[in-house]
Amino acid sequence: MSSIRNTATPERLIRQEILALHAYHVPPSSGMIKLDAMENPYPLPQSLREELAQVVASAEINRYPDAAAAQLKKRIRSVANLPSGMDVLLGNGSDEIIQLLALAVAKPDAVLLSIEPSFVMYKMIAAFAGMKYVGVPLTEDFALDLPATLDAIARHQPALVFLAYPNNPTGNLFDAAAIAQIIQAAPGLVVVDEAYYAFASDSFLPRLGQYKNLLVMRTFSKLGMAGLRLGFLAGSKVWLEQLEKLRLPYNVGVLPQLVAETLLAHHDVLLQQAEQIKCDRQWLYERLVGTVDVRAYPSEANFILFRVAHATQVFEGLKQRGVLIKNLNGGHPALTDCLRVTVGTPEQNEQFVAALQDTINQLA
Ligand code: PMP
Repeated sequence: MSSIRNTATPERLIRQEILALHAYHVPPSSGMIKLDAMENPYPLPQSLREELAQVVASAEINRYPDAAAAQLKKRIRSVANLPSGMDVLLGNGSDEIIQLLALAVAKPDAVLLSIEPSFVMYKMIAAFAGMKYVGVPLTEDFALDLPATLDAIARHQPALVFLAYPNNPTGNLFDAAAIAQIIQAAPGLVVVDEAYYAFASDSFLPRLGQYKNLLVMRTFSKLGMAGLRLGFLAGSKVWLEQLEKLRLPYNVGVLPQLVAETLLAHHDVLLQQAEQIKCDRQWLYERLVGTVDVRAYPSEANFILFRVAHATQVFEGLKQRGVLIKNLNGGHPALTDCLRVTVGTPEQNEQFVAALQDTINQLA
């Protein structure tokens, strides 16, 4: 009886900005050539798998993890070559760190500012945390619009600015001098999100000491550990000790801690795979540039954005041919007719190029 009288419905109870959201969509990919999610396509070498099996076999999974993840943090500080005086905070993926940052600064009317098009979670997480969101459009060729960004910063006084470097989904590195100006003009924190650092020619990590309001975020997802869920935020202890208060104590489990620590001891293997992916990115870029009716954008990440007529039909044609990429058409006005392909193994890249050519020919 009481459940009949209860007036709770999602529409009455859930905040309007959450009702208005669409959940982050992850399409089924079983049996497909999976080039949609910026994963590293290479399995680990057998010897490393065996080492991991041993590590996992002796893991104490009846115990809570080390809440401070001391060993893993030590390894990360060393492989990332962290400037002195800087520390790291760990997240269950860097998504979790974006959320933690937003929660920390979400005073009434606080603003989260980013550029558009960029990683969609900045805007979504602003809504989760009850922050106002401001998205400054990039120029037509996806460069930072510095005057417009500085103007938006002056007008909205954002507590938090996110700049993906390289940017997702456009793949380019923004002008470093323009980013420096943004950091200097921002009244709040600026987070340079280096999710694709392993494939890029520049980083703000060595510049951490130059700006009091700069934090650099990275993830190990694109380097071959997407399944582990591990990201980190690097910056001065002054910020990190406050943010640590919001981190749930056991956010990185026993197995991710041990496995990541073991893999980072073999960082060279993962970096070698990243180098291979960079070479294959060049091959793939040249093929896309050489494809009639396709406009490919230069990339410093492990994916390439391209524009093609009838993009949604091309995306569906690829899917029918067993290749899953990302359809960005309709997601943002600047991404009309845009698709994004993750760089795979040379064989997968060839299969993608053949399927793309075949689909375009059929649609012509
Ligand atoms: N930042 C950017 C720019 C991304 O593209 C992604 C993943 N698509 C993330 C952060 C989140 O990565 P993860 O949660 O796997 O660490």
